[in-house]
Amino acid sequence: MSQEPSPHSFALREEINLALATRSDYAAWSPALKALEEEHSRERVYQGLQFQILFALTISLGALLFDAFALPEMLDVALLWRLATIVPLSVAGLFLLRKHQLGQIKLAAAGALISIGMLAMYFASFATPEAMARYTLATTFLLGISCLGLALPFRPDELKRFALAFTLATSAVAMWPNALPPLELGLYIVLTSLVGIPAWAIARRSWQLNARSFLLDQRDEMTRIELERNNQLLRQLSEQDPLTGLRNRRKFERVVGERLRGLSSSRAKHGKLAVMMIDLDHFKAFNDRHGHQAGDRCLALAAAQLQAVFPSRYGVLARYGGEEFIAAVRERHPGEARLLAEEMRAAIAAMLVPVRDDAKPLITTSIGLALAPANRQLDLEDLIEMADVALYSAKRAGRDRVEVIEADEGLDAGSHRSSEDPRDRRRA
Ligand code: GH3
Ligand code: MG
Ligand code: MG
Repeated sequence: MSQEPSPHSFALREEINLALATRSDYAAWSPALKALEEEHSRERVYQGLQFQILFALTISLGALLFDAFALPEMLDVALLWRLATIVPLSVAGLFLLRKHQLGQIKLAAAGALISIGMLAMYFASFATPEAMARYTLATTFLLGISCLGLALPFRPDELKRFALAFTLATSAVAMWPNALPPLELGLYIVLTSLVGIPAWAIARRSWQLNARSFLLDQRDEMTRIELERNNQLLRQLSEQDPLTGLRNRRKFERVVGERLRGLSSSRAKHGKLAVMMIDLDHFKAFNDRHGHQAGDRCLALAAAQLQAVFPSRYGVLARYGGEEFIAAVRERHPGEARLLAEEMRAAIAAMLVPVRDDAKPLITTSIGLALAPANRQLDLEDLIEMADVALYSAKRAGRDRVEVIEADEGLDAGSHRSSEDPRDRRRA
């Protein structure tokens, strides 16, 4: 995975943990956490609202049949009311859904549902006792269903306001312009409370469970990102040299090994591959004279100098160990690797290492360069050994120079393997 920015600030992470531990109420959440929750539940909220609006529209139009049956003489009022309020509110809600205007969609959905309830209670006040009971029951039922249906898209406080507004508006219509008989009105208010309050409580509970599951999801996500980041850090630490910031030997061998394997299966095998062993000269003496700290500074500086001239797009540079660096490149034109090796040698010779005394120590390097045609069966180990032999020659020839060994076209790269370990010879 690429480095993914954490979606949570430190404060938000703390708040999520605290909210889970204390089961804090939504009302106590910070605006940032509320915004995150809104983002998280957006899709489901829109779906829930769409369902509610379509539900209101269907109920409202379907109820026309009931009106025609129960109050045929008032069908024109029913039609007008529905066409003038419920249908436009529903259509506006559906239109706003496409514009993602959350607050207004909620108002439209609530308005449509309350409007249906008001019309039903208005009719109840004119209907025969039998139809009156049906209208009253249907209104109570509508409140219960609406509370449950709006549980997800509405916040608990919004739901409470909706239930209150529904009850007040429908009760008002039941009293004016044509009042229900007091017994029916009392019954309506009692029934509405009996249905509305538990429905609201269930809706609130369901909202709390959703909120908790949201918090748990966020905590899982935080843990996942943290783990991923730690893994990345560990990987980086295990493949990076802490002193110079360069890749270490392990990473070099892995990356170059992979590239060589990729090359052997590819068809573009023109040009040459180069591996360079870059070893600072008489570095032990430098350490002895200027101290280990200065030696460390020198190594870091040398790494920076090498990096500055090394074309990292075309090759890999690493600290091989101690005062040795290693590089692998694929030549883009003949002689490029040799030129590059010379440039690297010059870059190190040009550096000014800060030391305690006034001395301006001159650091030189010897570089062993192994070259092999890219169309050969290549083995990284063989190339490194060739570079090591070349480095040994450079040391023996007086240091501060580049020596090249080329694997001949007809020979194996491994044909340069020496019977002695070149390192032993260099140290000799
Ligand atoms: P040559 O020209 O033959 O390469 O001689 P040399 O002294 O560079 O080689 P030798 O292998 O004898 O010594 C390498 C020195 O590099 C010895 C060691 O103290 C020093 N060295 C290796 N790693 C570090 C390091 O991380 N920091 C410091 N300050 N010195 C290091
Ligand atoms: Mg060495
Ligand atoms: Mg050395």
